[in-house]
Amino acid sequence: MKTYNTAIIGAGASGILSAIYLNDPESILIEKNTTIGKKILITGGGRCNITNTSPLQEYIKKYQYTGNFYRSAFKTFFYEDIIQLLNDNGCTTKIEDKVKIFPTTDKAKTVHDTLDKILETKTPQLLNANVTDIIQNHDKTFTITINNNKKIKAHNVILATGSDAYPQTGSNGDGLRFAIKLGHSKPEIKLAGLAPINFKETWINKLAGISLDAKIDFKVGKKSLIKIEGSILFTHNGLSGNEIYDASSYVDIQLKNGKTIIAHVDFIPDISYDELLSKMQKDFDEHPNWGIKRYIHEFLPGKMTSVFLEHMQIDETTILNQITRKQRNKLCEELKNNQLTVKEIPENLALVRNSGIKQKEIDPNTCESKIVKNLYIVGELIEGSGMCGGFNLQKAYSTGVLAAESIKKQQEY
Ligand SMILES: Cc1cc2nc3c(=O)[nH]c(=O)nc-3n(C[C@H](O)[C@H](O)[C@H](O)COP(=O)(O)OP(=O)(O)OC[C@H]3O[C@@H](n4cnc5c(N)ncnc54)[C@H](O)[C@@H]3O)c2cc1C
Repeated sequence: MKTYNTAIIGAGASGILSAIYLNDPESILIEKNTTIGKKILITGGGRCNITNTSPLQEYIKKYQYTGNFYRSAFKTFFYEDIIQLLNDNGCTTKIEDKVKIFPTTDKAKTVHDTLDKILETKTPQLLNANVTDIIQNHDKTFTITINNNKKIKAHNVILATGSDAYPQTGSNGDGLRFAIKLGHSKPEIKLAGLAPINFKETWINKLAGISLDAKIDFKVGKKSLIKIEGSILFTHNGLSGNEIYDASSYVDIQLKNGKTIIAHVDFIPDISYDELLSKMQKDFDEHPNWGIKRYIHEFLPGKMTSVFLEHMQIDETTILNQITRKQRNKLCEELKNNQLTVKEIPENLALVRNSGIKQKEIDPNTCESKIVKNLYIVGELIEGSGMCGGFNLQKAYSTGVLAAESIKKQQEY
């Protein structure tokens, strides 16, 4: 049975970067798919938001309360390093929204193919190889079973199998199962990251397909969990869009802890509550014969007005002077502080998984397991997902490189 220096399990962003930086002909990168980096191809809507150029202090905040863990990883390999690596190998990049990095081709395939090309001369790969079991031997080496029959040995294992989000790309939760079998603890609760949010109020379902700029304060009682501002998209069950994705992990934790979360939606953030109220008073006085539907269209997209008025139980043929002061105040309230009760975070639509192998069971300076010697854990398999904007891929590259560099250092002695 062949013994490798290191077996990297999984060729996603994290495993690929581990293999590139390990650069060891006596190690092996094992992937169950017939090609590497299947998930990279669908990132950023097929454009791949490669990374983000925010400073380190800002980065840390983008992983909710889990960001500090990645400090060493980011110090080892940060956004400028992945940009340089890609640029040096022919994948030029561009910046959008001041901080988001994309390939100039606008094609995730360019990023994928560039990494594939770099990898050719680095650590060898074994494709179409589904790892079905990993055990640790008495001498602390590992025996890895591939496709339920072939066995190989390795001194070190880098688990880069991703989470179970988007299983159609190959990451189906195997890594977590292997780690638990080897001695790691199971997450108490399964947390989604970057997902749409569904609400109990069914009237908004009729708005599916409409998007608008809004401000939302997600609250438990009086306490604000997270405030977002930007474009939101109504779906058949709730809300979606990058800002909603960012809020979803904050909401999911509270929801799984049995809390009631109310989204306070401000549909017209560029005018204050008091300004709107006095504008409405003035308009109602000055234009008593205006139709309410036309009037509400001043604030909401045309397609939304009928559904909104139906929800308010106001006939859309009503004219302004037929609307009572109480109704007018209620209109203002529903436009500026529309309260929606969170029903669920649809797990199957989450882009990433927020739970995973616990950070406290991994050494943040090496990515080596504190439970299983010579086992390294990288990428999305580590609990604590990032927000939209390139933070999840950067977490994958940085932890992947940190594990590779740690193994190389260990071998020098
Ligand atoms: C639709 C979508 C869009 C996204 N867009 C962005 C974006 O634009 N920017 C960003 O920063 N992040 C984005 N993300 C998140 C980001 O893609 C992931 O966090 C990141 O790719 C995770 O990398 P990874 O290497 O940890 O895991 P993965 O990419 O999931 O790779 C794990 C690999 O391990 C393999 N594997 C699993 N089990 C086994 C096994 N038993 N044997 C052998 N191989 C195995 C899998 O086949 C897979 O190839 C997006 C995610 C999705 C789903």
